[in-house]
Amino acid sequence: MAYDWDRVRPPRSLAEFEQKWLRRHDPACLSGVWRFHELLPFVPLSQVVTIGEGQTLCQESPGVGKYTGLEGGQLYLQYEGLNPSGSFKDNGMAAAFTHARAVGASRAACASTGNTSASLALYCAVTKLMKGVIFIGSGKISYGKLSQALDYGALTVQIAGDFDDAMARVKDVSKELGIYLVNSVNPFRLEGQKTIMFRVLEALRWNPPDWIVVPGGNLGNSSAFGKAFSELKDLGLIPFIPRLAVINAAGANTLFELYQRRGLRWNGGNADLPAVCRYYDELDRDHRRADTIASAIEINRPVNLNKCLRALETCDGVVREVSEQEILDAKAQVGAGGFGCEPASAASVAGARQLIAEGVIGRNDRVVCILTGHQLKDPTATVAYHTTDQAQFNQILGSRGVKRAAFANRAIAVNNDLDEIIKAIQLYS
Ligand SMILES: *Cc1c(COP(=O)(O)O)cnc(C)c1O
Repeated sequence: MAYDWDRVRPPRSLAEFEQKWLRRHDPACLSGVWRFHELLPFVPLSQVVTIGEGQTLCQESPGVGKYTGLEGGQLYLQYEGLNPSGSFKDNGMAAAFTHARAVGASRAACASTGNTSASLALYCAVTKLMKGVIFIGSGKISYGKLSQALDYGALTVQIAGDFDDAMARVKDVSKELGIYLVNSVNPFRLEGQKTIMFRVLEALRWNPPDWIVVPGGNLGNSSAFGKAFSELKDLGLIPFIPRLAVINAAGANTLFELYQRRGLRWNGGNADLPAVCRYYDELDRDHRRADTIASAIEINRPVNLNKCLRALETCDGVVREVSEQEILDAKAQVGAGGFGCEPASAASVAGARQLIAEGVIGRNDRVVCILTGHQLKDPTATVAYHTTDQAQFNQILGSRGVKRAAFANRAIAVNNDLDEIIKAIQLYS
């Protein structure tokens, strides 16, 4: 989606957006998405839908910074889990929902590993503008996310299969029934997700960081970030474009394999897409399915692959893969440093750590890791990590190759006896 900036009149400086804070009584100014309406002007401001998304924090975290190996530099965490449905998906949903209403849709659908469906269900429940239909795979969705979709009242269709299967089906069904599709194939989602970068810049007093590090699933975020920076640079609103690092889980590493190992590139819009098809055929032939504890990025056929290649070009990007162990250790460190996140989000911190060890990210750089989802989205992984119950650990994490919980905070078991409890507290505190 390209704008005719001469016609829509962008701001002359990013600092102009700060004026909106004075008008927080107006929902469109309160929204962390629509506060930046001038940079995503695909409908008039009077037509936007908001439920108060984008009230998120960007905070420096010395503890996590130290863990990643930054020395003089600064590590910031962008907490997108603070959105109304608990993940960054609300940024995109506000925009897609706005477009869906503008075209008169009465039903909206998505396939989801959990957070897109939670977000769609919430927008339907709050606004009553549309009926939500969500497609999920069987078994893999976390209870935190499933409970949201059910509680908010969306029509939930559970398909025997995984996310990639559900995604293929939802496309057929939407076409057949004329239902509006809000997956991140929807370009308006990406317009909304650009605002995550605008808020990062705002928190950094409009000075771009050296690096943005983000987990990669369907690659909507990374694509949106690249577009945001490319537009801001073209408009002369930022002095330089930060570098982008997209982090796959090793168990769902299509982008890493294609970009980093096989050299796939944007190539001026002529990426070697037949090579992508050949790779997908290999996956099928070898019966390889995406598999990671980071369920939000458990995706082998990312729908925004081509757009992400463009973002990697725009931002001089790199791609890495991280193990289950690295993800969970990083997640524990994020939790110990503050608000916490779900497993997929911690891939960003694990990836930053890897890139700093390699010397790709400098020890004095300013780095922003995007924490995509709230800690309470997936308590199963967290509790299994901290548990003293070896059987539980083995069943949930050991089966995925996780050997140790390096940063476990174990509950201490005591008898229901006052003396014993007092002794235990004195011993451990
Ligand atoms: C959707 C999601 C991702 C993946 O983002 P993409 O834009 O699909 O790459 C990562 N983390 C969480 C928590 C998510 O919900």
